[in-house]
Amino acid sequence: MLEDVLERAKELTKYQGEFRVKVRPLKTSIARVSFRHGTITVDPSVLNLSEEEILYILVHELAHLKAGTVYHSSLFWEVVSQVFPKEIAVEMEDRIILKLRKKLV
Ligand SMILES: [Zn+2]
Repeated sequence: MLEDVLERAKELTKYQGEFRVKVRPLKTSIARVSFRHGTITVDPSVLNLSEEEILYILVHELAHLKAGTVYHSSLFWEVVSQVFPKEIAVEMEDRIILKLRKKLV
């Protein structure tokens, strides 16, 4: 299922670069991105979320890769809002953080 959602996220953000997704326990965050290794790591708890929530997390991380920054820059938001309008994105983040009790970075 993660693979399917990932394909959708790549299409929606028009992400062309090379990267891998790993599922591995993360201490404090839900997901994180490594520019050096070209990887997105997601915490296993993410797999319990709804498909739309997982899609949001992957779009969020792909937006970091596309914008080339770990910050939530204007370019980052530009990529996210191609898929999720900012209001919806913010709402979704709050819901995910509340459910998993970890932060989304
Ligand atoms: Zn972020």
